[in-house]
Amino acid sequence: MDRSAAEALDRDDPLAHTRDRFDVPDVLIYLDGNSLGALPKAVPQRVNDVITQQWGHDLVTSWNKQGWWDLPDAVGSKLARIIGAQPKSVVISDATSVQLYKLLMAAARLRPGRSTIVVEPTSFPTNAYIAASVADVLGLTVRWWSPADEPDISAVLDEDTAVVSLCHVDYRLGRMHDGRAITQQVHDTEALVLWDLCHSAGAVEVQLDDWDADFAAGCGYKYLNGGPGAPSFAYVNPRLIDDVRQPISGWHGHAAPFALERDYRPAEGIRRLQTGSNSVIAMAALDAALDAFDGVTMTALRAKSLALSDLFIALVDERLAALGATIEAPRSHDQRGSQVCVRTENAYGFVQALIKRGVVGDFREPDLARFGFTPLYLRFVDVWTAVHQMAEVLESGEHELPENNVRAPVT
Ligand SMILES: *Cc1c(COP(=O)(O)O)cnc(C)c1O
Repeated sequence: MDRSAAEALDRDDPLAHTRDRFDVPDVLIYLDGNSLGALPKAVPQRVNDVITQQWGHDLVTSWNKQGWWDLPDAVGSKLARIIGAQPKSVVISDATSVQLYKLLMAAARLRPGRSTIVVEPTSFPTNAYIAASVADVLGLTVRWWSPADEPDISAVLDEDTAVVSLCHVDYRLGRMHDGRAITQQVHDTEALVLWDLCHSAGAVEVQLDDWDADFAAGCGYKYLNGGPGAPSFAYVNPRLIDDVRQPISGWHGHAAPFALERDYRPAEGIRRLQTGSNSVIAMAALDAALDAFDGVTMTALRAKSLALSDLFIALVDERLAALGATIEAPRSHDQRGSQVCVRTENAYGFVQALIKRGVVGDFREPDLARFGFTPLYLRFVDVWTAVHQMAEVLESGEHELPENNVRAPVT
């Protein structure tokens, strides 16, 4: 396929206009929005206003006057549509890892007498670490489920299963679970499910209410573009919220925070997941970032994500196979997230050489170069150019140069 065919796809792209909502440097082909989303143009102005006007001028009155107090709920409700949840069932706060701890503790406590938490051994490390620490605190056991060995999760579920904690889309290989089917299987054993949506929210279709999911959490800084260290989000199914007790009971989650009572009483609804003051600057940045999704349906977003990764896979097959690089990603649409890996010799050097050419992806041990497809700001021609550059790197041997093989702390 030649470049003009990719340009034709851009001309027919119903989401072509949303790229203009972002500041993506022209010199970059940014295929790492699954790690850190690009900067939405609305963010700097909003953050500047929060700092100079709201903080600088209005000071403490901004908690009321500028709606600071309500930001966790307001941003959560705005985000809810993106993950198929109703408003007021989602809030933002904390780092994802902390959020996972709070939700997993809350979930396990709803199943007293059951002793296992089911996790995938290939989860993102933090997910497994958090499961182990919750198990440690509550005296439970982690049970590993490896879909590669046992495709049917029912085989590891029984009347002892308290919670199943799964990443909807796998961070390495981009494999996507069937959220609806697994939720049903977990409920068949009367256990609860916690979905990690870090690599799903803002990239693939998620229907939490429709799946009847119990809990979910995810990052604000990947496909949601909230900026480095953006607050995470939490979802609790409204049918459970009245019984939910999260473990870090702070004053922001109290029923009457300014009554300053001695004893803790959880707030009504999703607000009870709050603990203490969050970064207002970071919440405002995420709030402004989410406006980039205005008028975009998740169906349209998903269709473009698949079209981008289909094109990438086809071009890698066509141009890189002879150079020893192969696709490592599910070929079927219903199992593919919004990222694709290329397996190649010296993947680290390959990624570094590409970054020098302006094509930004990342490296995952031991031999994977990972590329994310962000439908709001990526063009088909970017995908074409990226694979063209990959072919040039492999043909020239740039990936073997010593300067491309010096390891930095973040890969
Ligand atoms: C990115 C990611 C995280 C990150 O956790 P932080 O606490 O925000 O650093 C956690 N889990 C998964 C699956 C991720 O992809």
